[in-house]
Amino acid sequence: MKPKSTSIPVIRLKPGREKSVHRRHPWVFSGAVESEVDTNQPGQTVRVESSSGKFLGFAAWSPKSQIRLRFWSFKEQDQIDENFIHFRLQKALSNRSSSDLASNAKRLVHGEADGLPGLIVDQYNQVLVLQILSVGMEYWREILIQQLIKLTGLECVFERSDAEVRKLEGLERQCGAILGELPPNCSIQEHGLEYYIDVENGQKTGFYLDQRANRAKIQEISHNKEVLNCFCYTGGFSLNALRGGARFVTSIDSSGQALQMAKLNTKTNGLPEEKTEWIEADVFASLRKFRDQGRNFDLIILDPPKFAPTKQNVEKASRAYKDINLLAMKLLNEGGLLATFSCSSAISPELFKKILASSAEDARQDFSIHNNFSADQDHPKLLSFPEGEYLKGVLLQKRS
Ligand code: SAH
Repeated sequence: MKPKSTSIPVIRLKPGREKSVHRRHPWVFSGAVESEVDTNQPGQTVRVESSSGKFLGFAAWSPKSQIRLRFWSFKEQDQIDENFIHFRLQKALSNRSSSDLASNAKRLVHGEADGLPGLIVDQYNQVLVLQILSVGMEYWREILIQQLIKLTGLECVFERSDAEVRKLEGLERQCGAILGELPPNCSIQEHGLEYYIDVENGQKTGFYLDQRANRAKIQEISHNKEVLNCFCYTGGFSLNALRGGARFVTSIDSSGQALQMAKLNTKTNGLPEEKTEWIEADVFASLRKFRDQGRNFDLIILDPPKFAPTKQNVEKASRAYKDINLLAMKLLNEGGLLATFSCSSAISPELFKKILASSAEDARQDFSIHNNFSADQDHPKLLSFPEGEYLKGVLLQKRS
C-alpha cells in the first residue's frame, strides 16, 4: 500500500455526533458515521465533516474497525503527507530527548498521545521495535520505516505487529526483522539493573516499559521485607525488591519462559539467588494456597494482565480484580504494603479504587493510600483521551 496524492474523500458524521470531535477525542466509532467512502483504500486520509458540512478534521479511515476514524489533525490547513508524518515522529522523539529515564530503553512513540494513532515504537538499547496497530498507520508503513531509521540512526529495526487488535482492523500479524539482525543477547539497563529482552517472542514488544518508575518505587520500599511479586514476567519488580534489600522475594508467573529469563536476570545482576523463589503457576490458585498455608508477606505486588480488553468485559474483570486484591489483602502482615495495578483502559482509576474499597470491605481491613501509580513519562497521556490512561495503580498500607 502506497499513499497516493488523490483528492481527499469526505465523510460526514450523523447529526449531533461531532461533540466528541470538538473535545478532540481522536476516535469516531462506526455508529456515528453517516457516509462511507467508496474506494478500496483502507487507511487512507479522509476529510471529516459534521452533518451540516462543517470541517471537523482529517482522519484515517478504517472500514473494518468499530473505530472507523482516527484523527490525524483538527486543523484545516494541515496536509497529511510525508512531511506531516516526519514532523510528528520528530516531535515524539524530541519530546523524550531531555527526560532522564535512568534507562537506555524507552518508548519513542506512544500512539494517539503522540498524534500517531496506532503506532508504538520502543527502543531497547540499539534495537528499535515497531508495532503497527491500525490500518491507518499501516497505510504509511514504508514511509514510517524509512523516516524512523533516518531519525534514530539505529541499524536494527524489528517489527512486532502481532497484537490481537490488528484483527479488528482487518490486518494480519506481521513480525520479523526490517533492518539488520537482532543481537544474540539483547539487553537493557534500567535503574542500575540489567535485563535481557526477548524482542522476538517476549510479551508486548519485549518488556513493560510503562512500569519503569513504579519498579524504582518498589526498590525504595523493599528493605528487610518479605515480598510477594504476582505476575512477575521477567522479574522487573522482583529484581528491584532484591536490590532494595528485601529479606526474601517469592515471584509467580504462568509463563515458564518469562521465569527462565527472570532467573537469568537475577544472576546477571549478582543479586542473592538464595533469597528468591520462582513459582510457575496461576496466581489465583497460588494466593488461595498461601491463604490455606497461613503464609504472610510485608509487601505484595499485583500487576496482572489486562482483565478487561474491552468495555464489554468490565463486569467480569471487576470481579477478577476484586478477587485477587481480596486474597492479597488477607495475606498481608500488620502494616504491610500492597502495590496493586490494572492495565485495562476500560477500568478507570476511580472504578479501580472502588473495586479495591470493596475488596477491603470483604477483608474487613482498613488501608491508607501511600502512592498513586501511572505509566512512566515516556507514555504521555492526553486530557482528551482517557482511554490512554490504561495503567493505574495504588500503594496501600494495611492499618491496625
Ligand atoms: N510486572 C511485570 C509485567 C507483568 S505482565 C513487569 O514489570 O515486567 C503480566 C504477566 O502475567 C505476564 O508475564 C503473564 O505471563 C502473567 N500471567 C497472566 N495470567 C496469569 C495467571 N493467571 N497467573 C500467573 N501469571 C499470569
